[in-house]
Amino acid sequence: MNDTVAPTPPRKPDLILLRDPALAPPPLVDAFMRRITYLRLSVTDRCDLRCSYCMPERMTFLPKKDVLSLEELYDLATGFIARGVTKIRITGGEPLVRRDIIDLFTALGRRLGHDLTELTLTTNGTQLAEHAEALAKAGVRRVNVSLDTLDRARFAELTRRDSLPQVLEGIAAAKAAGIRVKLNAVALKGVNEDELPELIAWGHGQGHDVTLIEVMPLGDVEEERLDQYLPLDSVCAQLENRWTLTDSDHRTGGPSRYVDIAETGGRLGFITPHTSNFCAGCNRLRVTATGQLYPCLGGGEQVDLRAALRSDDPETQLGAALDEALRIKPEKHNFRMDQRGAAPALARHMSMTGG
Ligand code: SAM
Ligand code: SF4
Repeated sequence: MNDTVAPTPPRKPDLILLRDPALAPPPLVDAFMRRITYLRLSVTDRCDLRCSYCMPERMTFLPKKDVLSLEELYDLATGFIARGVTKIRITGGEPLVRRDIIDLFTALGRRLGHDLTELTLTTNGTQLAEHAEALAKAGVRRVNVSLDTLDRARFAELTRRDSLPQVLEGIAAAKAAGIRVKLNAVALKGVNEDELPELIAWGHGQGHDVTLIEVMPLGDVEEERLDQYLPLDSVCAQLENRWTLTDSDHRTGGPSRYVDIAETGGRLGFITPHTSNFCAGCNRLRVTATGQLYPCLGGGEQVDLRAALRSDDPETQLGAALDEALRIKPEKHNFRMDQRGAAPALARHMSMTGG
């Protein structure tokens, strides 16, 4: 099978590192002196759901021939690790719909405790029950599961698929396998707005952290973005009327800021691209399943890593492509959410880059 990941022979960059630290490739530091240690690697743009804020019902997916093989994804990850990336999140589309994806987790998982400190994924949870044990065995200790509602009819309407029972089963299976679950919910005006406290209380009751996300204007989704947009400062104010929220010191190196909720005993995160900018602390790069590197989720900058990977001298070319990405990584995202009828800030959907 041509899509099976090779075992993990020491690759050239590792050998250089072992031989002489002075010759190690330089770490990834951008023009604003932000050190990049975190890679979000999309393994497919395909998905078994059709969330209405993420993609249109009739989504056109990329031709399979354009998508990197699992070996190429592994090699790509290796190139990032050689430059100091220590944390990798596998994402999509829905990463667990990709055939043999556990092979990639297993291969990358062998690097945990050596040159990788964390391997994780973001999933919609529909196939998590089937894969939770294998993921845990590969070394995955934490997983983000997207869950915007606990109401089955609402879930079916929002995702255009009746899959809530499978998602809940997946969450339970991850927990049973010893994987820590964080629930991510996009806050949507008039859709799950009334249910957010219940969703948070349920998640905390199950022992899961919960993070709320402001919707971002990525790709055409056949709905007016402003109609979907629910600012999280107003959600936070409403939650404060109900519960005691205390700012938390908890940090994951990501854009979330956290509060502890006394009454539920749980932690709540907020990802607020619109109401509070977090770009100064950005430590990540994103690569799509076709090997396009997007230095910023909210910017149009792009570097082609697939061409580098498939060149005669992949190591040099990949290094040069990563340097270019660092050079053009913008200071801040360019999202605007203040104009009705505006074209999407960026044509690409979130399912390309994986959030
Ligand atoms: N399919 C997986 C999932 O849903 O978790 C992984 C990919 S999905 C694109 C990653 C995250 O992006 C999910 O939490 C999803 O809710 C979020 N998302 C998708 N489109 C979004 C948008 N336009 N604005 C904000 N978040 C979005
Ligand atoms: Fe699929 Fe995730 Fe997008 Fe929903 S948010 S359509 S689950 S990629």
